[in-house]
Amino acid sequence: MPELPEVETERGRLAARLEGRRIETARIDDARLTRPDDPAWVAARLAGEHVDAVERRGKYLVVRLTGGEVLLVHLRMTGGFRYGPASHERAVLELDDGTRIAYRDVRRFGTWLLLDPEEAEKHLGIRLGPEPLGRRFTTAYLAGRLAGRKAPVKAAILDQRTVAGLGNIYADESLWYGRIHPLRPAGELSAEEVARLRQGIRRALRLGIGRQGADLGDGTYAGGRMQHEFRVYGRTGEPCDRCGTPIAKTRAGGRGTWYCSTCQA
Ligand SMILES: [Zn+2]
Repeated sequence: MPELPEVETERGRLAARLEGRRIETARIDDARLTRPDDPAWVAARLAGEHVDAVERRGKYLVVRLTGGEVLLVHLRMTGGFRYGPASHERAVLELDDGTRIAYRDVRRFGTWLLLDPEEAEKHLGIRLGPEPLGRRFTTAYLAGRLAGRKAPVKAAILDQRTVAGLGNIYADESLWYGRIHPLRPAGELSAEEVARLRQGIRRALRLGIGRQGADLGDGTYAGGRMQHEFRVYGRTGEPCDRCGTPIAKTRAGGRGTWYCSTCQA
């Protein structure tokens, strides 16, 4: 499941091909992708448009068209773009320079929403807190969001309204870097612990972006190298890189959760 670093990697590759180009033809084969809108309507609106910019907000790709509309793409479980023939193609864009861009999605949970800019801002604004690598994501902000919450801190940071872009992998990695136990009630963290958590989140995500995300072997985010840098995720029984204690597995917020029982207090 793509998280901020995987989506950022997709964004960079897509932007390199799409920005400044004109979409000659658009074909959308899967009505689930655009619902409630008709896929033929969305495809007709995309054809002939120039692309100004491909941005990212949380786990969304934000494709800004010269005509003013915005295509919000959420990859969900297995969505991604390919620049050659691909299996499980759900949509295809052909550009004025001959580039063919396929959207593939094995599980078909991904979404394409074509909105005007105000609608797009509203759509993102009600769902997403600040960008974790942006200036608004301060320790004071995070402390305010966690204050009074009894939920496990891991569940709190998976809430996209607390901070945009974390999923199961990077939440676990962030908590390891911050030396915070994933089951601690969010509201009980000290100011110093919140500061460590914020730094841990930023460190884990920066590392993930630098490694072009994690390739979990299913072919969806091929080429990522973050899976070689996991400190806890999926490492049950392996020694903690900081203290040697075997990594433990539990559940938090309904998700498999890995941590070190010695150095995450
Ligand atoms: Zn440890």
